[in-house]
Amino acid sequence: MSGKILIFTDLDGTLLNRDTFEFGTIKKYIKHLLSKNISIIPNSSKTEAEILEFNKELGEDLPFISENGAAVHNMDLINQSLPKKIILSREKNELLKIFKSKINDKLISKCKFVLGLKESEKSKIFGLSGEKLNSALKRDFSIPLLFEGNKNEKIDLSQSIKNNGLTLQDGGRITNLCDKVSKALAMKNVIRIFKKTEKQNLSIIGVGDNLNDLDMLKNCDIACLVFNDKFKLEKINIDNCIVSKKPAPEGWQEVVNLALEKIK
Ligand SMILES: [Mg+2]
Repeated sequence: MSGKILIFTDLDGTLLNRDTFEFGTIKKYIKHLLSKNISIIPNSSKTEAEILEFNKELGEDLPFISENGAAVHNMDLINQSLPKKIILSREKNELLKIFKSKINDKLISKCKFVLGLKESEKSKIFGLSGEKLNSALKRDFSIPLLFEGNKNEKIDLSQSIKNNGLTLQDGGRITNLCDKVSKALAMKNVIRIFKKTEKQNLSIIGVGDNLNDLDMLKNCDIACLVFNDKFKLEKINIDNCIVSKKPAPEGWQEVVNLALEKIK
């Protein structure tokens, strides 16, 4: 293998099983990749607290991107001269202020703020409970919403949010009101930083399972999609995309293995 390999990966449904969030069966493989000096960078809608817990479970300190590209963490682990945290988003209170003052009341009335719901409802929506639910709710740069209008109203809402410099981002389980950030933009930032410090050629592998990963995958050298039965393949339009037969976590190992063979 020549040059440095970076793997940007979504977590839920891609590296973590969509229902159980387990990844134990591929832990050894992940550690093997890290031992070969391959960098693995989680790029997720999850919060900083959640990804730190993932790092703890893995037993490794990975650099990562949280809340749909809002912040980059731990770049100092790659090079001491790099900052520990890079923030690419405005704070959520600022986003909320814009949302409430600029979006039309009729559309706002169809939005349910997940943070305001009862504990049991939040637990159901996130598929989490206890400490894990608390970590998922510790959001600095995104506001989880449930939209109760119809399809056309959702399009109107999304457009109106975009016109006001924000984004509405559909994740695996929830929709988030975010700043004008994305997984792809944050990834490009990280690549730019890497290029400053790495003299070797970079090969970029992207791994995802859903629509919200596509623009990240389109900006990689090798795009990998982990099988997700809720996501129809006709929607992707990426050259030579590697698709796994198995779901996460085993599907992650399957596609990364094929991608690394391509680079060899
Ligand atoms: Mg996902």
